[in-house]
Amino acid sequence: MSAFIPTVYCNLFGHDYKVTKKVTYHVKEYTCKHCKKQLTTNSNGNLIELTPKFREINAILERIHNSRKQRSKEKLITSSIY
Ligand SMILES: [Zn+2]
Repeated sequence: MSAFIPTVYCNLFGHDYKVTKKVTYHVKEYTCKHCKKQLTTNSNGNLIELTPKFREINAILERIHNSRKQRSKEKLITSSIY
């Protein structure tokens, strides 16, 4: 029964999405505060349901994004030493 109430709430008032994860600068994952439905940004910038397939894609994007960030940080450190 407790899982039923948030869904009714969302049907009446709409979902209340909060950003739960920043994958890259442009791609984020959102979760509804009430029913826990998850969304993500696709390559066109539209919000779509976060399916296991997109979760996988986001994990790859995140890894690429983080390694790029890491690399630019290393460059910064190196250039400040030499
Ligand atoms: Zn909801």
